[in-house]
Amino acid sequence: MKYTLRKLLGFFLIFSSVTLLSACEDITIYLMSFQADKYFSAPSAQGNRFEELGNGLYAFQHGLDRSLIVNTTEGLVVVDSFNEKMAKDLKQILNQKFPKKPVSHLIYSHHHLDHASGGYELNPGKVIAHENTRWHFDHYLGTKTLKPTHYISGSQSLKFGNHEIKLIDFEHAHAEHLYGFYFPKDKLLYGPDLALCQTFFPFGYPDYNHYGQIHALEEAAKLNFDRFISSHFNNGDKSCVTETLELFKNTRAIILENFEQYGQPNEADGEWFRQVIGSTKKMIKRDYSNWHGYDEMGLAFMLRQLTGAVMGY
Ligand SMILES: [Zn+2]
Repeated sequence: MKYTLRKLLGFFLIFSSVTLLSACEDITIYLMSFQADKYFSAPSAQGNRFEELGNGLYAFQHGLDRSLIVNTTEGLVVVDSFNEKMAKDLKQILNQKFPKKPVSHLIYSHHHLDHASGGYELNPGKVIAHENTRWHFDHYLGTKTLKPTHYISGSQSLKFGNHEIKLIDFEHAHAEHLYGFYFPKDKLLYGPDLALCQTFFPFGYPDYNHYGQIHALEEAAKLNFDRFISSHFNNGDKSCVTETLELFKNTRAIILENFEQYGQPNEADGEWFRQVIGSTKKMIKRDYSNWHGYDEMGLAFMLRQLTGAVMGY
């Protein structure tokens, strides 16, 4: 009996140790999932809202994402369809608010699938995107993405009936190409994935080039607007653009200063990494700890800036 108990206890100990070890291996994933959950469940990324912006302009917030809609005499113009579910909900609202008025145009700000999916739910007459995104749309096989029917290039003033939308060309910033949507009379800029309002981008801001991003934000800051409509989280004013610009500039500057102080990356070791990231974090904590996502996405942003500074992007 005693032998059996000892044997059972032995099995139990081995089983618990193996379980504990496997759990430890997954603990980083668990922590990351907890952080992502906290970041994406912010009140500013919850619920559905059809927002009136005046002068025929509307925004539709669907959880994390926000489209722009322009009610023109030619039809409804939608910028970014985001995903199937969101586009379906938007079409329902448009049918109620503007009975029998079709979506005449869908414009893609850029080719990323989280902005450019589900467009067929809107049944648009024309789908417009920048020429540089053609390659990407041609390679989105097996996705539920509506392909553009018209490709354009450069900054453009597009007239839709009584409305004029200025498409601002942001090259080499986010994705292969990014358009911003400027309404000079309304002093309004819709800047999908260009800037966020006092919010860190998720996971270090995927698919961007630092130098192009600085140029894009500087160009955007020159425009005369006082309302910034964001594709994610809260809307705000021009400070969303200028503060995002400062965040990118300041982080890159301190990382490059740290390279001078602690040694160039080709000589890096663990101590170097602790010093460079440690000093960068001091600045980020001092100036940006009140921003949404500081706890969850601040480190990812610093790491992305570090690799960008090392590799020149
Ligand atoms: Zn994007």
